[in-house]
Amino acid sequence: MAEKQIPYFCNVSIEQVDDGKVYLNNGERLPYSFLLVLPPYKGKECILSSKDFEHENGILPVHETLQSVQWENIYVVGDANNIKGTKTGRAAELQGELAVENIVKQMHHEPLRSFQHETLYFMELGKEGAMFIMNKPSKQGTLTCTTSGIMPHMMKRAFESYYLLKFS
Ligand SMILES: Cc1cc2nc3c(=O)[nH]c(=O)nc-3n(C[C@H](O)[C@H](O)[C@H](O)COP(=O)(O)OP(=O)(O)OC[C@H]3O[C@@H](n4cnc5c(N)ncnc54)[C@H](O)[C@@H]3O)c2cc1C
Repeated sequence: MAEKQIPYFCNVSIEQVDDGKVYLNNGERLPYSFLLVLPPYKGKECILSSKDFEHENGILPVHETLQSVQWENIYVVGDANNIKGTKTGRAAELQGELAVENIVKQMHHEPLRSFQHETLYFMELGKEGAMFIMNKPSKQGTLTCTTSGIMPHMMKRAFESYYLLKFS
C-alpha cells in the first residue's frame, strides 16, 4: 500500500457518507470522487426473518462437526455458518462433503469428524504477478507454503486453461 501511496485506516468504521465525503468514526473526513464500499458481511434474508433461529447477523453458530449448536440434526455449511476461517467456495465444498459424511455417521451412531481448514489460493497482485498460499493439514502437521511473483501467475493461467478445457 505504501509503495503505491495508498493511505489506509485500520480498526475504523464508516459512520456516514454524503456527496463527496466519507465520515469515519475516528473523526476523520475523507473526500472522494469515486467510492467503492463493501458492506459488512451478513446472512441470508430467510435466516434473518426466521424467529426460531439463534444467529449472529444471519450467521448460524455450529460445532466443529458442522452441526447446528441449536439443533444437532441440522448441519450448516458454507457462508451460512460461523466456523472460523476464510469464507470460500472451496470451504463450502469441503464442508458439504463433511456434512454428508457426518450425517451418515450420526445415523450409524459413529463418532463424527471435525472440519479441518484447508486453504489453497492464487491471488492476482496486479503488475507483480500473483501470490500462491497453501495451508494443508495432514497427520504430520500443517503444510504451509506462500510464494509470490510470476510463477504463481503462470500456475493460475495453467489452472484456468485446465479448468476451461474440462468444461469444453
Ligand atoms: C465477489 C466475490 C468473489 C469471490 N471469489 C472467490 C474465489 O475466487 N474463490 C472462492 O473459493 N470463493 C470466492 N468467493 C466466495 C464464494 O463465492 C462463497 O464462499 C461461496 O459461494 C459460498 O457458498 P455457499 O454455498 O455457502 O453460499 P452461496 O454460494 O451464497 O449459495 C447460497 C444459495 O442459497 C440461495 N438462497 C438464498 N436464500 C434462499 C432461500 N430462501 N431458499 C432457497 N435458496 C436460497 C442463493 O440464491 C444461493 O444460490 C467470492 C465471493 C464473492 C462475493
